[in-house]
Amino acid sequence: MDRVDAVVIGAGVVGLAVARAIALAPRFRGAQVLVLEAADAIGTGTSSRNSEVIHAGIYYPQGSLKARLCVQGRQMLYAYCAERGVAHRRCGKLIVATDDAQAAQLEAIAHKAAANGVDDLQWLSAEQATALEPALRCTAALLSPSTGIVDSHGLMLALQGDFENAGGIVALHGALAGAECTGAGMVLHMADGSRLLAPVVVNAAGLHAPDLARRFEGMPTGLLPHAHYAKGNYFTLAGRAPFSRLIYPVPEAAGLGVHLTLDLGGQAKFGPDVQWVDSADDLQVDPRRGDAFYAEVRRYWPGLPDGALQPGYAGIRPKISGPKEAAADFMICGPAAHGVAGLVHLLGIESPGLTSSLAIADEVLAKLQA
Ligand SMILES: Cc1cc2nc3c(=O)[nH]c(=O)nc-3n(C[C@H](O)[C@H](O)[C@H](O)COP(=O)(O)OP(=O)(O)OC[C@H]3O[C@@H](n4cnc5c(N)ncnc54)[C@H](O)[C@@H]3O)c2cc1C
Repeated sequence: MDRVDAVVIGAGVVGLAVARAIALAPRFRGAQVLVLEAADAIGTGTSSRNSEVIHAGIYYPQGSLKARLCVQGRQMLYAYCAERGVAHRRCGKLIVATDDAQAAQLEAIAHKAAANGVDDLQWLSAEQATALEPALRCTAALLSPSTGIVDSHGLMLALQGDFENAGGIVALHGALAGAECTGAGMVLHMADGSRLLAPVVVNAAGLHAPDLARRFEGMPTGLLPHAHYAKGNYFTLAGRAPFSRLIYPVPEAAGLGVHLTLDLGGQAKFGPDVQWVDSADDLQVDPRRGDAFYAEVRRYWPGLPDGALQPGYAGIRPKISGPKEAAADFMICGPAAHGVAGLVHLLGIESPGLTSSLAIADEVLAKLQA
């Protein structure tokens, strides 16, 4: 049986960030580090099906991993993008209230942001907001100057480049079927029937991470959450949008509301909505869902022309809480939780996972070193 020093399962943005951090860590100098990716390319999962927004860290409960790792990860991500030439833009975003009840919600959002250490939000009156974005209709808004957008593929290629320069290897078509936890490390059972021994294993399999974690024999499974899938559909705008900042309504239960985001080429998209589904592969966008988008978007952009929205793409949120439950935090389940040395499972890494990826990687490293 072959042996490597460390294995990361999944080559999404989080898996690649973790693999890079391990390969660059002094403790792992000279170690053989492998990323196992089931697909035929890196970043084909949720990491290529999101809004590509660098979140400021506004919405998450105080003291949560999401709040801490988003704020840290955002700072690390801007620095990393600047250093490695990854395309990004600190374009800012407006969170908009369209009636008085929502204006009260904005106040709660501003308090939460301050508690999370996001101290640059600015209150705008309707006049101030429309002076910035003339096509907007709102009663009040919060401006978040530190929100931005990033080329997620460029980011993943840079992470992969660092990892490979440090001696790491990405193995595509490398699906893991299950594992056994032994005194000598984890024996990984590959889908092709081969076996691999590794004393350090990080499960960053995204939507499949909770199910895969259950297939680690010898690890207690009682603490593992179940996977839930909340699909987010996007509709793209034909023509140019009359906005230069991201526009978000006040958030809804399982997502951040049907917001307007821009890509680095200036193309606008609206979404994601929230559609609970049974399968991690249910990625078709039903064009009929577009009807609800017109009403939602026209609350803050009354000028949205009829027929301007086209079905775009969908991503699925890797949730570990169901539709009727309170939103769960990121779960970084390491040896202190499950008792198996060298093993970390990353569960429920939904938004802001892209923003937090570099900070999650440091957190995993700390759990492996503890
Ligand atoms: C609709 C939507 C919008 C979002 N918007 C944002 C945003 O604007 N900003 C933000 O910060 N975050 C956002 N997110 C969250 C962000 O996209 C995710 O947190 C992040 O991409 C998760 O990365 P990952 O590497 O954990 O998972 P993934 O990208 O899903 O990667 C997991 C990888 O594991 C592989 N894999 C699975 N099973 C196995 C196996 N058995 N063996 C080997 N490989 C396996 C898969 O093929 C896949 O490549 C959004 C998410 C969604 C769904």
